Amino acid sequence: MIRTRHHTYIFALLAVFAAAIGAAPAVAQDKMELRTVTDGVYMMQNDRGSSNASFVITDDGVVVLDADLRTADQVLAQIRKMTDKKVKYLITSHSAGDHASGAWRYREDKPVFIATKTQMRDLYMQEGKEFAERQKTDEVYKASQLTRPDIGFEGSMTLQFGGLTFILTEEGGGHSTSDVTVFIPQKRVMLMGDLLDTEIHPGQGESAGVFYSNVKGWTRSLDNIIARNLPVDTYVPGHGPAHIGRGVADLQEQKRYFIVMRDEVSKMMKAGKSLSEIEKTIEVPKEFAHYKRKPRLVSFVKLFYYQTIEQGY
Ligand SMILES: [Zn+2]
Repeated sequence: MIRTRHHTYIFALLAVFAAAIGAAPAVAQDKMELRTVTDGVYMMQNDRGSSNASFVITDDGVVVLDADLRTADQVLAQIRKMTDKKVKYLITSHSAGDHASGAWRYREDKPVFIATKTQMRDLYMQEGKEFAERQKTDEVYKASQLTRPDIGFEGSMTLQFGGLTFILTEEGGGHSTSDVTVFIPQKRVMLMGDLLDTEIHPGQGESAGVFYSNVKGWTRSLDNIIARNLPVDTYVPGHGPAHIGRGVADLQEQKRYFIVMRDEVSKMMKAGKSLSEIEKTIEVPKEFAHYKRKPRLVSFVKLFYYQTIEQGY
């Protein structure tokens, strides 16, 4: 009897806790902060569940990278404050909801929405399904529509617009099914999407409940970009603060993170530790100890563990 009552008490507590989480106005708190990357290039930084979004203001209009339905209204409001030019192009770095769900917010300006063919397929397949699922329960989604890309490219494409060159490169499958970077040579800036996260543990490439990140593809993409020796002052991350002027050191740090963390997991595997033991006891090496959002590490430990068994690295 006591045991039952004890359990009832715990369940009641859990219910209160769950209700508290469910009732929390997470969307309202998901604030985007303006950061200037360089003249005409801006990043809206988000430190919670949403992604960063970037925009470039030119004489002919605005180019935006990434739109999360939950926060793209804040990005558009900021653009409206800074220019009377319309948003002419919207590019997506990858198909995850926190980057590709919010094109609808820009409908008044009718931008050309550019994605890769793979991203476009995702938005018709699992991401489209996820959007429809969310429309059943989430008021923000209920009041919106999924806007799919106008153009799907493969490999790379170059956009000449507003006196600037935007070089879109499909870097491959690393963080997601298809990661795109945007290099703007006249600004010495490269927009990285989630191939670069700064000062936080990187996120697993979740797309409608399926995890797509793979360490091999991710480090290969970073290697490929580093090998281009691009004239870039700032690589703009998909999450975390932009380190203005730090250049390629940001990419080297991101790559090193994967190598060092995978090494830690591998050593623990050799010592006979199980996955759950590794998840519970792994220590973050000093050089990454300041990284925030540590809970995200757990999904990556799984990734290091299974991908080491599956393919060695
Ligand atoms: Zn993201």
